[in-house]
Amino acid sequence: MVEILTDQIFEDIVETIRESLLVLNSDLKVISVSRSFYDFFKVKPEETVGQLIYDLGNKQWDIPMLRELLETILPEKTSFDNYEVEHDFATIGKRTMLLNARQIEREVDEERIILLAIEDITERKKIEAGLGKAHEELKAVTTELKRAAQVKSEFLANMSHELRTPLNSINGFSEVLYDETFGPLNEKQKQYVNNVLTSGKHLLLLINQILDMAKVEAGKMKLALSSLPMKSLLNEISLLIENMVGKKKIKMSLEIAEDLPDIEADDLKVKEILYNLLSNAVKFTPEGGKIGMRVKKVDSEIEIVVWDTGIGIASENMDKIFEGFFRVDTPYSRLTEGTGLGLPLSKKMVELHGGKLLVESEGLNRGTSVRFTLPILSRMVV
Ligand code: ATP
Ligand code: MG
Repeated sequence: MVEILTDQIFEDIVETIRESLLVLNSDLKVISVSRSFYDFFKVKPEETVGQLIYDLGNKQWDIPMLRELLETILPEKTSFDNYEVEHDFATIGKRTMLLNARQIEREVDEERIILLAIEDITERKKIEAGLGKAHEELKAVTTELKRAAQVKSEFLANMSHELRTPLNSINGFSEVLYDETFGPLNEKQKQYVNNVLTSGKHLLLLINQILDMAKVEAGKMKLALSSLPMKSLLNEISLLIENMVGKKKIKMSLEIAEDLPDIEADDLKVKEILYNLLSNAVKFTPEGGKIGMRVKKVDSEIEIVVWDTGIGIASENMDKIFEGFFRVDTPYSRLTEGTGLGLPLSKKMVELHGGKLLVESEGLNRGTSVRFTLPILSRMVV
């Protein structure tokens, strides 16, 4: 005899619940079922309530794993959680179900009842499997991309190296011609040879920059570390810049802290970084403006700020200027020369030393400042 639930509220809860929920008595016969169970398994109340669970809908619930769960595991543990059951159901086909059950004792008559919740996770499993596959594919693509980038960098490094040899010969011989070591040139010849030499030198500079860029990206740039007397190095660089500034009617100011320590770094690279940043400041600051450099010790690093009151950088270009070969197109910058490699290269070289480089600008025509750090004791990355 199947008993009828007396507790109306309990029955209402079971009825309304969105998931498929079965209430069974201790003989595993159905006492009550949520409406969604009928909808989902396409069965009617009259062929469900009072039936043994295994007999429901042409015995489609007579599943060995469910028997094991209800007859062995549940009596022992009084509950089970998240058991996945894959089964070919007569009414709805092959599905994966997630089963949760609780065995509870009712206070009224001390009868044991079982709550069995059934969740169809077939679609979720499919999506999870799809996501897993997509993740694997993405990983493969990323690996391939990294490999391609590495090949590109190595190719560039080799190419630029190969290009330098003939170029050095072009530059060397045009210098010999220009010096008239082997006989005089007429005015036109001298002018043309000078053009060849100027272009050759420019090309060599470019190739060296590309080679450096490729080297950093291929992880092949090495630092030649030594102890750098920062104060004298900064003075040396600023003399060079003062020359450039002098021609252009720009004011330059230097604020170098008294207690500046020597640092462990690569002499040529630090000079190159400073030269790149200061020459940018000069280049992108119209006449009448100011540029400057502030250097101080901050904890275990020195911090260098190269600032100017020049044409500034719009926020949308802040990332692009580090991509390489990117030059912001403004009427003023169109008048200046360059390749767009100085800044990205400087950033990489700072990072190679274990420092950081940041560019800040309030926007167009509101100046720029480049702030970078160099550790006092090398934390060389490579
Ligand atoms: P290169 O340094 O290779 O000779 P470049 O000076 O044009 O050429 P980067 O130094 O890499 O190139 O700088 C990239 C771009 O960032 C510049 O072309 C310019 O548009 C912008 N930029 C860099 N520094 C400044 C600055 N101080 N003020 C305004 N714009 C700047
Ligand atoms: Mg530059």
